[in-house]
Amino acid sequence: MRKLSAFTLFFFSCYLLAQSPAEKLIAEGQQSPTLEKNLRVLTDEIGGRVPGTPAMERAEQWGVDAFKAAGGENVHTEPAQLAASWTEGNTQVDVVSPVRFHVRAVSLTWTVPASAPAEGVPVVDVGAGTNEDFQKAAHLRGAVALVHSKTMKTWDDLFEEYLTQADKLSAAKKAGAVAIAFISTRDQDLLYRHIGSFNDHINNFTQILFAREDGERIARLLTAGKTVRIKYSIPNHVGGSVTAHNVVAEIRGKEKPNEFVVIGAHLDSWELGTGALDNGCNAALVIETLRAIKAAGLQPRRTIRFVLFTGEEELNVGSFAYTTAHKAELDNTIAMLTWDEGTGKTTGFSLGGRKDLVDPVTRLLEPIKQLGANTLTTDAFVGTDNMDFLLEGVPNLVANQEEANYLINYHASSDTYDKVDFPQLRKHIAIAAYLTYAIADNPERLGPRQDRKQIEGLMQETHLDDQMKAFDLWSSWAEGKRGRSH
Ligand SMILES: [Zn+2]
Repeated sequence: MRKLSAFTLFFFSCYLLAQSPAEKLIAEGQQSPTLEKNLRVLTDEIGGRVPGTPAMERAEQWGVDAFKAAGGENVHTEPAQLAASWTEGNTQVDVVSPVRFHVRAVSLTWTVPASAPAEGVPVVDVGAGTNEDFQKAAHLRGAVALVHSKTMKTWDDLFEEYLTQADKLSAAKKAGAVAIAFISTRDQDLLYRHIGSFNDHINNFTQILFAREDGERIARLLTAGKTVRIKYSIPNHVGGSVTAHNVVAEIRGKEKPNEFVVIGAHLDSWELGTGALDNGCNAALVIETLRAIKAAGLQPRRTIRFVLFTGEEELNVGSFAYTTAHKAELDNTIAMLTWDEGTGKTTGFSLGGRKDLVDPVTRLLEPIKQLGANTLTTDAFVGTDNMDFLLEGVPNLVANQEEANYLINYHASSDTYDKVDFPQLRKHIAIAAYLTYAIADNPERLGPRQDRKQIEGLMQETHLDDQMKAFDLWSSWAEGKRGRSH
């Protein structure tokens, strides 16, 4: 390091003393000097990051190096095991009659390899794929069920795609279909990853995503009374259990080093694109948040733990591994914060159903209200790494963000570095750095840890229980395998 003159040091000290933590952290967040480079390396040089692949291992090392460079303490990785590994082979789908054409298609994830013979299998249109639609459709035995979609515009549309999927799958199986084909929710031939399994186990039912234009063409042929047959080859590579890793760093607390605030974002991604909006930008945010607090010369009362989670896309495998491994510390984990909605403007926070957090979070946000992240919501949802903290009763905050360009690029081949809104992301780093520091430094805890009964009440009130059922997560909670037991 270059030697600083006494004169420079004097002015630097005055600068630090003159500013409040909020002012310092906003200034540091706005600078975020390593943000672009970190994210460019992660997305362009490492690329899409599926647990169990070499890219995920390189990404873990990227996280370790970046945390160390940012000044992180106790930088290390922690294992998280997935029941199976999965990568897609060269999926090929073709209409073979009444006209021949190639269908742009991808397999849904974590599903078995499959093929249909050269003479093809019939396709049956099941409309929107409701139970009634399936009951109305004839001749589904041995056929591919073709499910329509509307183009995705809002968060609600996205949730609907997930929440209705399990019912569609069981209806298709019950009717004796050999496969289900979903029409893409994006146009312009855009393909994206969608889960074919509601956990990290391989699902044995064949599920395919058709490009919207090809899927609609098939549907029009069927409406015109033609018999449409397709052949397909889906040589998915399925492997056994794999171990991936969360990457962890700390800033140790000066008064209560054994109390923790966790700020995390998932590092893994799908791989048709390079996982820039989902969620490379926010993995980079977590690293830059650490750097900002360090660079501002601030040490909070409690320890802040910065975590890059793995396996979020396989339904929160990494964050579940974290809450399992750190179970003994959860009484002293006073809050968990996460960002997982790209770089659309952060309007505030979802408080995971906790009305009692509205007042304290409102007070803590006061010094940065000019950044506009003040709108708090008390909804709760299944969808990102806060979930297992919620199930453990730990106060949790998820950034609520505007859709911006997130949904069109969601899990798609177009989720690349060029989509990232860096000026907005820098504002989020300022918000994250300030709020995380403020929660960790506040003399009072943000709120109590809830017990199982309180968590159950919260689930009923927010209808989180229904979402968990739709995501096939309910039984693990009900059987005491996931979440707080008492
Ligand atoms: Zn995500």
